[in-house]
Amino acid sequence: MRSLSRRAIAYHEAGHAVVMEAVGVRVRRATIVPSKYESGSVCPHEGESDPASQVLIDLVGVLAERRAAGRRPRLTFPSATAVSYFHVKGDLIEYGAAVDGLNAWEAAAVIAPSHRERTAYLRWQWERAAAMVERRWVEVEAVAAALLKRKTLYGSEVRRVIRAAHLRALGERIRAKFR
Ligand SMILES: [Zn+2]
Repeated sequence: MRSLSRRAIAYHEAGHAVVMEAVGVRVRRATIVPSKYESGSVCPHEGESDPASQVLIDLVGVLAERRAAGRRPRLTFPSATAVSYFHVKGDLIEYGAAVDGLNAWEAAAVIAPSHRERTAYLRWQWERAAAMVERRWVEVEAVAAALLKRKTLYGSEVRRVIRAAHLRALGERIRAKFR
């Protein structure tokens, strides 16, 4: 696995956290303190979210991470016969993408069982995830900055940072209107 900068990891996890909250799955804890298996993580509050939300949450990490670097990643799929290829390829691509991609692929199986259906479904969710990152970029930036500063944030802190960023952006838009 390629090792990414702390900044990239913070944006990646911030993307997961912001979209998790946006789809109504409350964040319990977000961290960029590495564990044995992960460079960072975001844990939801209660049980599992529904598969559609899970797909969106899984896909958004790499989008946020790459947007911070001024790039947009490409969505890749396992071949119809070999899911393991995706896994291997994902590992070579970047941090998080392999596990997140595989999780999204598996969560989508409930909704779209056939390979054709599933790739079409994931392409659509990928576009939705990209649009959400775009719309909520100030929130992603604020959570990433807080993660870089504090390393670990609990759910209430994540929500406070998101709310403050949202209100700040709203205030700026209103001021711009009446200038
Ligand atoms: Zn991730």
